[in-house]
Amino acid sequence: MQGVSATKSANEPDPASKPDVAVDLRSDTVTKPTPEMRRAMAEAEVGDDVYGEDPTVNKLQARAAEIFGREAALFVPSGSMGNLIAIKVWTHHGNEVICEERGHINQYEMASMSAIAGCMPRTTRAPEGILTWDLIAPLIRPKIYYRAQTALISLENTHNMAGGTVYPLEVTEDICDHAHASGLRVHLDGARIFNAAVALGRSVAELTRKSDSVMFCLSKGLGAPVGSMLVGSREFIEKAHILRKLLGGGMRQVGVLAAAGLVALERSPQNLHRDHQNARYLAEGLAQIPGIGIDPKKVQTNIVIFDVRGTGRIAGEISAALGQRKVLAGATDQYAIRMVTHYDVDRSGIDRALATLRSIV
Ligand SMILES: *Cc1c(COP(=O)(O)O)cnc(C)c1O
Repeated sequence: MQGVSATKSANEPDPASKPDVAVDLRSDTVTKPTPEMRRAMAEAEVGDDVYGEDPTVNKLQARAAEIFGREAALFVPSGSMGNLIAIKVWTHHGNEVICEERGHINQYEMASMSAIAGCMPRTTRAPEGILTWDLIAPLIRPKIYYRAQTALISLENTHNMAGGTVYPLEVTEDICDHAHASGLRVHLDGARIFNAAVALGRSVAELTRKSDSVMFCLSKGLGAPVGSMLVGSREFIEKAHILRKLLGGGMRQVGVLAAAGLVALERSPQNLHRDHQNARYLAEGLAQIPGIGIDPKKVQTNIVIFDVRGTGRIAGEISAALGQRKVLAGATDQYAIRMVTHYDVDRSGIDRALATLRSIV
């Protein structure tokens, strides 16, 4: 872990060089809170947040709104709940939601958009996961009373399962302009929007200014133990606040978590470029291994998805063999493995992952 190894004494061995400590590349959700986060949690001022009386939550929400240049923000227990709340605000039962086929809201949220919001996902597969207005327009239902109506477009930036790909700003803005002209709303699943901002060298406020709502995660690469945020207009957040309670997400002295979230928000974005450099380094190393298919130039952020077809083995077998040697990665497809870099794995951890994979295949 880069942040922490700097604070370790010189004679303490690097955990990545200890074979009994896992190099965990399954996700950036595995990040542990930093010492600064733990201190902030211990010292947090708290109150009952259902009564709106937790000063630390209020501070986090105000700060998130400020960073995104929006009127208001809401702390939610998970990104999935944040996305579901946004979908519920912008739709009615029987509506359709346009999203990319591999999108998190379509694949990994328990079908909540159907089960709870009563909506149908209307999906298409986009190159690198990046939707364009040309791909979206044909999916919009005509305004005929006997057809289900499209209400919302949901974009994912960065796109997780397409390998951490980033929406060019012009593409997002073009989609938002066309959507608004067609009477549709745009929600942004920005679980990793700070990674996109770092990759593009722009602020999150710039990247998201035309979206009607944004969800981002504090608990991924930013390193907080729990929590995500919704940001948008005051009116949107007022509705979201009611829906959070409806879904059982009203929390009490949750300032202990918001305190870690504030540290994550203020401190972590400036370090994400290291995760991106490590991901590129990992991809370049993977490209040297016979049987592994990956184009390192396509790795823009902290997610590396590579093809193992050329090894003659399936991804599940390879990831199990890696796991036995304490290198943790997930099979995302029969022939695809995903590795996600984050601040708890440094260069030597990446080197160990590469050496282990090389010896297995
Ligand atoms: C992680 C993630 C979420 C939210 O996940 P939770 O585990 O519910 O916090 C949403 N969208 C994307 C793209 C994600 O990667």
